[in-house]
Amino acid sequence: MAPMPYLGQADWRAGRALCLTDLKANVSVYPVSLLFYSPPTCLRHEMQPSHPESPKRLDAIRDRIASIDWQGRLLVRDAPALAMERLYDIHPEHYVNLILGLSPGEGLVALDGDTSINKHSLTAALDAAGAGCEAVEQVLRRQGDRAFCSVRPPGHHAESTQAMGFCLFNSVALAAQRALDLGADRVAIIDFDVHHGNGTVEIFQDRPEVLVCSSFQYPFYPGRHDRVNRENIILNPLSAGTGGDEFRRTVESSWQKAVARHRPDVILVSAGFDAHRDDPLGGLDLLETDFQWVSELIVDMAEQHCGGRVVSLLEGGYNLPALSNSVAAHLLALAAL
Ligand SMILES: [Zn+2]
Repeated sequence: MAPMPYLGQADWRAGRALCLTDLKANVSVYPVSLLFYSPPTCLRHEMQPSHPESPKRLDAIRDRIASIDWQGRLLVRDAPALAMERLYDIHPEHYVNLILGLSPGEGLVALDGDTSINKHSLTAALDAAGAGCEAVEQVLRRQGDRAFCSVRPPGHHAESTQAMGFCLFNSVALAAQRALDLGADRVAIIDFDVHHGNGTVEIFQDRPEVLVCSSFQYPFYPGRHDRVNRENIILNPLSAGTGGDEFRRTVESSWQKAVARHRPDVILVSAGFDAHRDDPLGGLDLLETDFQWVSELIVDMAEQHCGGRVVSLLEGGYNLPALSNSVAAHLLALAAL
């Protein structure tokens, strides 16, 4: 796919001004458009046959999405793979070369106790990150209001020099960097996966232009970078067994205040659904309605502060019915349906 012509900062800021005018008039001039990215290569990355992070997750999401009447709001889009050198925006070259060198011709190579790669994994990871970056670019250009990337491998555990927790490269961090490169002054990342997004925090803890708000079960995997004390890192640890009411009480004003103070130009989401009651890996007690609620909270914050712009990337979620129903609730909220 040929690169699209660059539309500069002034263009997407003008788009935001138009949207704010519409909001102030309380008139819905255009129906919300939700871009949907799911590169087919993401199905070819496989670990052990019994591994919970399986291609069946994306099949379940696709089938569930196909059963919904989107009223023309869901727009399926293709994205170019991330150019290898763009990984260096977040991951140093020696780390990228390490992963490249480990990529097998056949079979599996283990990167840690629960993360391995096959011959398709590198392509899948570059396409997953490419989808996130393309989604950011299109939303900043006002070619869509919001976007969801149904991708794997996930990314939020990947630190700048460490693959772990099913993650190779940090896709949401690469997407945030793309937003900044395109002229955004500030970016907010909301992460509601049951596991702490250690990689995203490690990467951005000393970069105040990126706000990271993260709820997670605690104490729990991975136990890294979950006590960071910075103004741009908002951590909301939750005890095992926490249900929807306490989750909502914990994050609502905390995230609203932080996002209002940060005034982001776009909100990115590390959308993990393994805090669901039925998830085999997590120990929290959320339901589809809680994911709908938090998605509506994110949309409200985006409409208040950044012209409604939201780009969401799939992270965890390992019970297939719970995952697909929760993603549907998330997307219905993003599409304002
Ligand atoms: Zn997770």
